[in-house]
Amino acid sequence: MAFRFEILKKDHFSKSRLGRIETDHGSFSTPAFLPVGTQGTVKSLTPEELVEVGVEAILGNTYHLYLRPGHETIGRLGGLHSFIHWERPILTDSGGYQIFSLGELTKISEEGVTFRSHLDGSTHFLTPEKVTEIQRILGSDIAMVLDECVPYPSSYEYVKTSIKLTTRWAKRCLQERKETDSALFAIVQGGVYRDLREESAQALVEMNFQGYAIGGLSVGEPKSMMLDVLEWTIPHLPENAPRYLMGVGTPEDILDAIMLGIDLFDCVLPTRNARNGMLFTSSGKMSIKQAQYAEDRRPIDEPCLCYTCRHYSRAYLRHLHLANEILSSRLNTIHNLFYYMNFMKHIQGAIRENHLLDFYKAHHSHSNGLEIENPAQHHTTWG
Ligand SMILES: [Zn+2]
Repeated sequence: MAFRFEILKKDHFSKSRLGRIETDHGSFSTPAFLPVGTQGTVKSLTPEELVEVGVEAILGNTYHLYLRPGHETIGRLGGLHSFIHWERPILTDSGGYQIFSLGELTKISEEGVTFRSHLDGSTHFLTPEKVTEIQRILGSDIAMVLDECVPYPSSYEYVKTSIKLTTRWAKRCLQERKETDSALFAIVQGGVYRDLREESAQALVEMNFQGYAIGGLSVGEPKSMMLDVLEWTIPHLPENAPRYLMGVGTPEDILDAIMLGIDLFDCVLPTRNARNGMLFTSSGKMSIKQAQYAEDRRPIDEPCLCYTCRHYSRAYLRHLHLANEILSSRLNTIHNLFYYMNFMKHIQGAIRENHLLDFYKAHHSHSNGLEIENPAQHHTTWG
């Protein structure tokens, strides 16, 4: 197993870093945004189309793949990369987030977590060891530990007990890991409590994982609180390991988190919004269904060079969306992912050239209106 994280440049005015992650399936630049391939597909696009919009790595959801078609089936078919025809890096989550969002259907114990499938109601029991094994069989390049995702808000006492369990589970995942396995990242929890975030980070860092995620954010807490948690947590993470903010987010959230030193992101927002007709543009967010676009010949975003913007008008895209045509999802997803990938490339360039602060100011002055109505619920629950 080859895994290496190299920091190529640090920004002078913020905590952001330009880096490169190497895996057995190639390398990718950081800060990176990983589109979500919930069920072994980034909805509506082929792998070739993902490459064309600039995607270098994707995320797969262990929970969904475990239930259907089953990790053993995928393993017998040559592993996830071969099964889905994606030769570049894949990060898999542990399934914890999906399992815990089942709510009443979930029961937690020291040993692991029992839950009922959202597909057929069947009962399943997953342990840290099992989750590590599933990700090994899938053949992911970056695997995540099983953690307890506490809802927001949760009491201090509850979170204090929970982070201890998450630490014990992380240790069991690490013990189960084999030398030939993919990289394994731990997940810092601790809700919105500073001392618990610090305690969780310190306990996990002692175990020496290859990377560290910050979990339990973007679950309904105010944005300022998310930034507070990042400011408290990041100083306790090692400089030379990648830092991954799970389930975030809007371009603004991503840029803010990069300024604080985050390297990796994933979120369903660009793909899910695309299917709902919500498009990201250089001047803010646009709802393509609005009547004002009925005869608008312009592309979604004039400066955008994506396939969709090069060939299709707002009027046609509005028509496709209202007619509920499959092509609507495809063309909108191409644009939104291109927008996100281009955004990340600009950030990487700005760090390299030492003008991230200028980029930050320019982006914030141009993107009024990009605010999302509901900042929570952008995780990959059901894709
Ligand atoms: Zn475009």
